[in-house]
Amino acid sequence: MMHRRCLPYFVHLLRAAVGIALLCCAAIPAHATISYTVSLANRDQHRFHVTMIVPNANGHVDVRMAAWNALYQIRDFAYHVSSLAARDDSGSAVAVKIDKDTWSISAHGTLTIEYDTDWDESGPFACQLDDNHAFINPAIILMYVPERRGEDVRIAFTDAPGNWRAAVELDDANGGGGLAFTAANFDALADAPIEIGTFDEFEFQAGGRPIRVAISGRGWKRDQLTDVLTRIVNNEVGMMGEAPFREYLFLFRIGEGWGGGMEHMNSTAIDVANMGQLPGVAAHELFHAWNVKRLRPASLEPLDDQREMYTRALWFAEGVTNTYEDYVMVRTGMWDKSQLYDELAQRITEIEARPAHVWQSAEQSSLDAWFEKYPPYTEPDFSVSYYDKGELLGVLLDIQMREASDDRVGLDDLMRAMYADFAMQRRFYNDSIDIRATAEAVLRQAGVTGAAADLGPFFSRYVAGVAEIPYADFLADAGLSLESTAHSSSRSYRIVEMSTPSDLQLRIRESILAGSTAQTAVAH
Ligand SMILES: [Zn+2]
Repeated sequence: MMHRRCLPYFVHLLRAAVGIALLCCAAIPAHATISYTVSLANRDQHRFHVTMIVPNANGHVDVRMAAWNALYQIRDFAYHVSSLAARDDSGSAVAVKIDKDTWSISAHGTLTIEYDTDWDESGPFACQLDDNHAFINPAIILMYVPERRGEDVRIAFTDAPGNWRAAVELDDANGGGGLAFTAANFDALADAPIEIGTFDEFEFQAGGRPIRVAISGRGWKRDQLTDVLTRIVNNEVGMMGEAPFREYLFLFRIGEGWGGGMEHMNSTAIDVANMGQLPGVAAHELFHAWNVKRLRPASLEPLDDQREMYTRALWFAEGVTNTYEDYVMVRTGMWDKSQLYDELAQRITEIEARPAHVWQSAEQSSLDAWFEKYPPYTEPDFSVSYYDKGELLGVLLDIQMREASDDRVGLDDLMRAMYADFAMQRRFYNDSIDIRATAEAVLRQAGVTGAAADLGPFFSRYVAGVAEIPYADFLADAGLSLESTAHSSSRSYRIVEMSTPSDLQLRIRESILAGSTAQTAVAH
């Protein structure tokens, strides 16, 4: 995303250098603030009334609604829109719909567009306006001008009850306390979920950064929640080396059922049924601040929010984030090690029970993510979850790297190397190809040579392919035994520690359970 944002300035400089700056400037629309005012008056009808002001309209403006956001599902947010009207300096402007998401408007000067969009869907992947609160994923209710996504934006909320406040990781437009915010561009605004209502909020320091919490619901205690989040933030920041954000916001809703969590650049929105579910989801979503938000597959860039974007990397972006969810739980002491073993055994049981595991690879499951909006697709005959299989692949890759390197390097080192080689260089990685290449480079730097440094078979068999995974063999390398029980039509698995592991098996097991920090990692 940073690459795309920088491009127009780069092009501009280049053209200036060859002496056509004036021509160039004439062709580029003047830079201005595009502003949105969102009225929350119609809470009974769950209706956001949006007024969008686009300055410097120069004859013709397209405005567009995203077709997907938050989930890998085409959801066509434009069908929630009604009563669109436009006017410019000369009075009314005619808005003509040119495809399901786009309106084309002839306008001069300042273009004002108004529309209603109705949302009453709870959870972090949608929007909701009711008497209790407003929750907004901006990309779902706001239109944008495609060629002007890079211009700075302002959003203000009006007609909220007097006691409603806002929580969002954006700059305050009024210098504190109001319901108006600014962002450097539309994408930054689109990636900042907003909760407006009467939630509780507090702040603490962890991982060297201010961590903000805005929370609704019952059954939580501030001290306990602060302790849980501090452990998670410190562990993840310590492992990766540095917090990639200036400040981070957790938006929690507790007690309204399982809604899941959604990652964003500097925040996350999480809905859970109870406190017991919260730590794992928080650990998962926070890890996305590195894995997928900044360490990002090239197949998801540049963003095309009009149609499906196909990536083979979700086994890593989501699945290995699940691996770290598990690791963080055990490494912070919130799980004992038997809970980690049970979690992994349950994932093996689930995958092995799915007939689809013999024909759908982890990479194909990633490509087919767009089918997840069709309920039958998630049934055992038709798919294997890239979350589940990726979670196991992360652990198995960890074990394989440790076994090959005499426990000198593992998955933690791979994550740090991927982050340094791609995110820190503002490059995107080329799906499994770059993950494999980086893992092999980490092994070679740790002194591993020959076939042991070749992860080709691992990736071709278990990531791109559908070979039966020899779980018991992998786990044995970490001093763990896989036990199974046959049932009438399935088999369930259990993971237990070997009673007399070898020295290396024991070291690998202990390394996985303890994890490493960027500071303590073996220099190589
Ligand atoms: Zn995730």
